[in-house]
Amino acid sequence: MWAVKVVFLGFSALLVTVELISRFLHCRKPRRTTNEVLFFPSKEVCVERLFRPSLSCTCPLPHGIETSFSLLLRHILSASSSMDLCIFAFSNVSLCRAVLELHRRGVIIRVLSDKDYAAINGSQIGVLRRAGICVRCDCNSTYMHHKFAVVDKRLLITGSLNWTLSAVHNNMENIIVTDEPDLVQPFIGEFNRLWEHNNKVKSGQVWPLFFIYC
Ligand SMILES: [Zn+2]
Repeated sequence: MWAVKVVFLGFSALLVTVELISRFLHCRKPRRTTNEVLFFPSKEVCVERLFRPSLSCTCPLPHGIETSFSLLLRHILSASSSMDLCIFAFSNVSLCRAVLELHRRGVIIRVLSDKDYAAINGSQIGVLRRAGICVRCDCNSTYMHHKFAVVDKRLLITGSLNWTLSAVHNNMENIIVTDEPDLVQPFIGEFNRLWEHNNKVKSGQVWPLFFIYC
């Protein structure tokens, strides 16, 4: 009888050991990270499939080609819960469409922009506002010159790129896309700081009705 007990105990010990080793290895498995550098100008290609994957588009632009711009759009459209956008100039219609699509899906969007550039011809800030997206504009006399977005509080998109047509397709620009917490967290902190700093209600500022403040 004792032999059966010894075998049983030995088998149990073996199972526990295997479980512990498995957990140890799982914990040590490297975190899958995103670290990308994208350079612009980006070749102009059709990005319709990113918005309507089932559509067979017949427009004259090249199809089925991945570019810096399509990758940028993919990262933006990957948002599932929130996106905080701090952008100096925003006139790119495709990027505006991506933000509107996120808003339609129920993603919480906060946009902080420069008050002068938000009002120029072609700016999409008014389009976002009219769609019900929370927009605040910097109330300092200096430019709000940032160009960054934080997706789902985990993915940072930042660089020289303004969200304009010429920046995407004409200029030499760069962006970094990363989910490194040491880089993402300071941008979350800076966004929240600027968001609160430009709270019209708290600051007592009076802004045109063009903007809504949330
Ligand atoms: Zn097309």
